[in-house]
Amino acid sequence: MQVQLTALCATGRLPRHCSCWKVDKMLGSALISMERLEVLSIQCYLCRDPPNPRHRYLMELPTRSMREFYYYCHCTTERENVPTPFILAPWMASLTALNWASYAWTPTLEKRFSELIQDVNFLPNIDTLQYNNAGSCDDLLTRRVIRRISSTYYDPVPAVCRSPNKHLITRLSIPPQYLRELFDGSEIDKLRSLRHVGTLSFERNLSDPEENKVSTCDSF
Ligand SMILES: [Zn+2]
Ligand SMILES: [Zn+2]
Repeated sequence: MQVQLTALCATGRLPRHCSCWKVDKMLGSALISMERLEVLSIQCYLCRDPPNPRHRYLMELPTRSMREFYYYCHCTTERENVPTPFILAPWMASLTALNWASYAWTPTLEKRFSELIQDVNFLPNIDTLQYNNAGSCDDLLTRRVIRRISSTYYDPVPAVCRSPNKHLITRLSIPPQYLRELFDGSEIDKLRSLRHVGTLSFERNLSDPEENKVSTCDSF
């Protein structure tokens, strides 16, 4: 089962005077009933309401078969000190693909996430990553076997070159300005499993099973 959601605050009114809390509640009610949810994409443009953080239902999702998680959240505030608790939710354990937009990161969350990555039982099966400027992406590249990497804006080349598992990377989609950096460097020869490199965003659909369809576009 796959769910792709885009929610936005259309009124521009102050929090509690719009329908965002209702929308979020309905969203939660629907997701809580999906016991076999495998792919979840949330693009949230709900307004910010710091005293009443949204998306708390993410902690309670019953699925244990989630494979892909895309999360962009506009309503998270940078000054929020409480880590979003769902990074500890049981459904995170089965993820193989993660795309967590950097805008949704708070320093507290970033610190907690980096700590959790030290434990091999956290995100043990993750192999596909949308790279952003969060330090935890570098940690994941160091401590997990990430085989497929995509970046829309940021330069993943230094982190890729430092990764002890770089010889297992099969796909690398990076912005064109960083391709030269990769090919001019000395590490390219160590990416022995690399089958496809180029510029192609698989931001929304991290593990498209139609791999051949993708490869015709990004073969280099
Ligand atoms: Zn709103
Ligand atoms: Zn949100």
